[in-house]
This record gives sequence, structure tokens and C-alpha cells, in this order.
Amino acid sequence: MATKRTPSFDSHNPATGEVAGTYPIMSAKQVSEIVAHARTASAQWQKLGFSARKKVLLSWSNVIINRIDQIAALISLETGKPVGDAKLEVSIAVGHIGWAARHAEEIMRTAYRAPGLLLSNMSATVQRSPLGVVGVIGPWNYPMFTPVGSITYALAAGNTVVFKPSEYTPGVGMWLEETFNEVAPFADVLTTITGLGETGGALCTSGVDKISFTGSTRTAKIVAAQCATTMTPVVLECGGKDPVIVAVDANLERAVDATIWSAMANAGQSCIGAERVYVDERVADKFVELAVQLAETIHAGAPGDGNYGPATMPSQIKVIQSHIKSAIKDGGRCAYGGPESVKPPFVQPVILLDVPEDSAAMREETFGPTIIINRVKSMREAIDLSNASSYGLGANVWSKRQGKKIAAELACGMVAINSTFSFAAVASVPFGGVKDSGYGRVHGPEGLLEYTYARTVVRTRFNVPLNLLSFKRKAKEEKLVITLTRWLKGRFG
Ligand code: NAD
Repeated sequence: MATKRTPSFDSHNPATGEVAGTYPIMSAKQVSEIVAHARTASAQWQKLGFSARKKVLLSWSNVIINRIDQIAALISLETGKPVGDAKLEVSIAVGHIGWAARHAEEIMRTAYRAPGLLLSNMSATVQRSPLGVVGVIGPWNYPMFTPVGSITYALAAGNTVVFKPSEYTPGVGMWLEETFNEVAPFADVLTTITGLGETGGALCTSGVDKISFTGSTRTAKIVAAQCATTMTPVVLECGGKDPVIVAVDANLERAVDATIWSAMANAGQSCIGAERVYVDERVADKFVELAVQLAETIHAGAPGDGNYGPATMPSQIKVIQSHIKSAIKDGGRCAYGGPESVKPPFVQPVILLDVPEDSAAMREETFGPTIIINRVKSMREAIDLSNASSYGLGANVWSKRQGKKIAAELACGMVAINSTFSFAAVASVPFGGVKDSGYGRVHGPEGLLEYTYARTVVRTRFNVPLNLLSFKRKAKEEKLVITLTRWLKGRFG
């Protein structure tokens, strides 16, 4: 008798194209059953309290650190990134687990607010409650660091989590669930579901209490539309076109070193990776010279060979290729590499110069090991060009004296001054963007509060003769309130 086979998909080693694993494509029905289990578990997980949850999360981070070789090898297999990079990613993720576990209680502590003069007989408080079940949808480029930035904060706040990893990195997603379950006090606190986009779509409409999405802007819009049908709130962490501003007083060696790394590491597949540089024309030649010198020393190759790996997602190669070509067609020049640097699945470093601002290469996320260097006459011009983008994720500023001033004018969610990527590793600060880069935040207190809702409780401490919210209210009481309002000019607090 023929049995109905569960549909499945393969994940691949992007360096060789070999199959790395086969995983089920979960149906909407399976997703909704898993979410129902997660909902049952959420009451118990909440009841455990902060210190018991902290213990579980810290035990999980110990398991991860003790098995860093195993998980780093798996990340490297599924993404093609060097094992050393994968280990760094794991370390930063572990830092976030520890921070969220240790700070959740203090961040969610009931806040006492001033009730104001007219209501001074009241106590006004704001309690924070977990949402229930949080759905996390992740990308493949940092398959551990990125989802952990949502998963851990949601768990620490008292929610259970259903996690849908990218179809390019399902093995890492399953590993997270398996290791968590080794320390979990009971089942269904963190569950990984596997599948393609439709499985993610099913999670959006499954009745979870929030979706925390990280991925492309294109998918984010679909996710937000799907979530709207069930009034499911969303956090959207999307793409970027991060600028680097180099002032005349920048330490050029350090600026070049960090910028080339930011643009090329992970094969350029970093949402906060440098994509365009605006350098003061007085130091531009030197900056380009140093950048080319550095690019000559790095190359793409399989893990163990290259400084960075292949393009994880084969279809991205076409985007990278078209951006290099359009940059040249639109009037840009190659300072290092060019169209010939694209040798699928690898892309060798490419440095482009003087690319017009309206070129697709300047406007759209390239997500490859390429960098465009444009010269500017002033920091004002650099700021305006940086802001004239549909994206607003991160930015880097290199200057000894003007860093803070320039940062304050940038229309983006995060700025690194005289460093790159640093804000992603500082667990206490929020991570996220504006405009096409998304909304909502992960990491830090703001990120943790995304997975909670505010419950306002206002309590009468003692009764006063003035009772305005009553049909027994007298005309002279109304008069008194108007007089007070006039006198205090709204300063009731
Ligand atoms: P993607 O949008 O293709 O996929 C992201 C996830 O969404 C995957 O798990 C995918 O299966 C799922 N998905 C696809 N269609 C869906 C649908 N209809 N409903 C629900 N889920 C669906 O993105 P990607 O290629 O995996 O990741 C790369 C992108 O992510 C880049 O644009 C990068 O800049 C961005 N990114 C952003 C951040 C950030 O924090 N801002 C971090 C990492 C990556």
C-alpha cells in the first residue's frame, strides 16, 4: 500500500553543492499543532519565574560553549563561512543569551509612575507581561547569532518560542532546539519548525502572539501583510546599504582595515556590512591605495582556504554580478577586481570607485564582497548622501574629533564610531533600523520589551472628597478642576 510521503527539502554545502541534510517541509496544520503545544507550555514557562528561567538559559549557553566546535562546523557546512568566523558568531550569540538571562527581571520590574496632582490619591504602576508564544523567522547569513538575538530575549521574558530557520540553514536551527531541550525543564519551550517560505507564512497566521522576522525587505513586507490578517504584531529586521563616512582626521589604516573586513567578511553577506564609502576628497587617494593593498591579500575560498567563503545562496551571485556591471555602465571605475571576479560559487574582492548615486549598485543591497568608494567635498555632503537611501540600518564613522557630531545626524538605527559591527556585540544596546531596514528592535532592554506587553494598573490608595468620575459630581467640583487646570497649565504630574 502506498504511503503518503512527507514532503522534504535539502540543505547544501554552498562550497561544493553537496547535500548537507534533508528536512521535512512542515504544513500549516503541523505548524498550528506545534504552536498549540507551545501555548500550553507557555503558562508553565511563565510560572517558573525569572531565576529558574535564568538557570535554564545559562545552562543552555554552557552547552553551546562546550560544543562550540560542533556547532561552528555545522554553521560552516551550511553557510560556507570559515570555521573561525562561525566560532566568533557563536561567542557573540552566547553573550546575548547571558545578558538576556541576567537582565530580564530588572527590565520587566513593575515601574511606579507619578499619578499627578489631581489623582495623587492613586498609585500608578506599569507591569510587564510576556506575550505568550513568539514566532521567530530567521535568515541564513548568521544562522545562530541572528535568531538567538530574538529567541533568547523572548524566552528570558517568559515566552515560549517557535523558530523557523532559513531553508539554507535548517541544521543549525535543529541544533538549537536539540541543545535547548537537553536543559529544558519540560517540552515545547523552544521548538524548531523546518520548511520553505510557506512554512514561515503558516507561522505568521498561526495565532502566535508576535512574529520576530529577520530577512530581506521584500519578504518582510509579505510577512507584515500576512500578520496583519490576524492582527499579529511584528518586529522586522531587514536589509541595509550601510554607509561608511571617512573624515579628513580619520585614522586611515584602521578605517581601511575595518571597512574592507566589514564589506568582505562573510562574503559580504552581512546586513550591517559596509556597502558604500564616502571619503573626504583630501584623503581619498590614500584611502583607495590602502584598500587595494589590503584587498590584494584576501581571497574567497572554501572553509580552510579562503578568508571568506562562497555566496551561501546561489541566486545572490546574479545580484552581485548585475551590481558590478551596472556600476561600471553608469560611469564607475574598478580599482580592484571587476566582473571577472565573479566565479560561482565564489566572488573575489571587488573595489569600485566614483559610482553615481542613482546607480542600482549604490541604491540596492548587494550582499556580496564588493565596496564602492566615492569621494565627497565635505562631511555635510557625506551625511546627506548617507541619508539619501531607502535603507537606514547601520553606519560607520571614522573621525578623531567629529564622530559624535556626524553620528547624531545619521538617519539610521545604529552607528559605530571608529569601529565596525561593534553595536551588534554589545548586548545592552538595541539593534534595528528605520525605513526599508525595518522596525522594532532586538537586543538590549528595548529588544526584550518587544516580547512583552505593558499592563497599566492604577489603584486608589485612599478616598478623597473630590470624586469627578461620578454622576454625583457637583458643579463647584467641576469649577475647581477648571481653575486648577488653568493655574497649573497642564502640569499635573
Ligand atoms: P529572506 O527574506 O529570503 O528569508 C528570511 C526568512 O523568511 C527565511 O526563513 C524564509 O524561509 C522566510 N520566508 C520566506 N518567505 C516567507 C513568507 N512568505 N512568509 C514567512 N516567511 C517567509 O532573507 P534571507 O535571504 O534569508 O536573508 C538575507 C536578508 O536578511 C538580507 O537582506 C539581510 O540584510 C537581512 N538580514 C537582516 C538582519 C538584521 O538584523 N537587520 C540580520 C541578518 C540578515
